[in-house]
Amino acid sequence: MLTKSLHRGVLLTLTLLVFLLLAACGPKSSGSIVEGKVNVITTFYPIYEFASEIGGEDVHAINLLPVGVEPHDWTPRSQDIINTSKAQLFLYNGAGLEGWVPNFLKSLDADSEAKAVEVSKGVDYIMTDEEDGHDHGGEGEEGEAEGHTDTLHTDPHTWVSPKSALIMAENIKESLQSVDPAHKDGYEERYNKLAERLKALDSKFATELAKLPNHEIVVSHQAFAYLARDYGLTQHAIMGLSADAEPRSQDLLKLADLVKKEGIRYIFFEELVSDKLAKTLAAEAGVSTMVLNPVEGLTEAQEKNGDNYFTLMEKNLQNLILALQ
Ligand SMILES: [Zn+2]
Repeated sequence: MLTKSLHRGVLLTLTLLVFLLLAACGPKSSGSIVEGKVNVITTFYPIYEFASEIGGEDVHAINLLPVGVEPHDWTPRSQDIINTSKAQLFLYNGAGLEGWVPNFLKSLDADSEAKAVEVSKGVDYIMTDEEDGHDHGGEGEEGEAEGHTDTLHTDPHTWVSPKSALIMAENIKESLQSVDPAHKDGYEERYNKLAERLKALDSKFATELAKLPNHEIVVSHQAFAYLARDYGLTQHAIMGLSADAEPRSQDLLKLADLVKKEGIRYIFFEELVSDKLAKTLAAEAGVSTMVLNPVEGLTEAQEKNGDNYFTLMEKNLQNLILALQ
């Protein structure tokens, strides 16, 4: 009897120890549920920023994607399932960005009341036949597709255009109002402020880019189709929708020819993935590289610096102006 209870005691201590160790050693927690607020789980940075802005004091937002990580290779951890099960709202981009969402929603607690909302709904989607070799979407059915596929994919990068970001912000506002009607007016008021800023950004992009003589951009990852469509640019991508799929060498040579022929002066790359291919192409064509940020997440430096969707998009505009004049 004595040994049995002693045994149980040791087991309990061990369990507790393992639990504490796990809690201490796990990757940086993405935050925990706060009682008395509307808990909103977001999948990646722009949605987190908009939900925090519109939510104000009524909302506690938790972003699943850690700082410095781009959404392509990310999948949720068990703590994310626990948090989301207790939250009132789960906001994801959709349009194929988060291929893990259907399974994730199935794994939530049976009594979870979290309402899942596809934030990009209502945006006029761009379809592309680009291969999508990474986990940006495709619900995993394409996997590591070899060669060309004839399937059309939805381009998920809706937020990169202020015009579609505005639609996304409105969806976020409506979802907050539906789970928390008591604070409807506050959401409306803060949404209006955010919408004003997005509209100002939109008209700045439209007027500034229209003044420029050049409209062809060469980018590393095909993340700028919505921006290109809405502001009259033509996007040439080295890597397709993915940020990590390798381009074929004949495609690189073709791009180098285009760069020379069109007098393109800069190849754009992004900070969360390697700039190797952009540098290779730039060297091949004898031009320079510059950052064009798809705002899929912040780097640690950007977070410390207080950067956000608006500062990064503003920087994008300044770099586009430099590159296209
Ligand atoms: Zn992307």
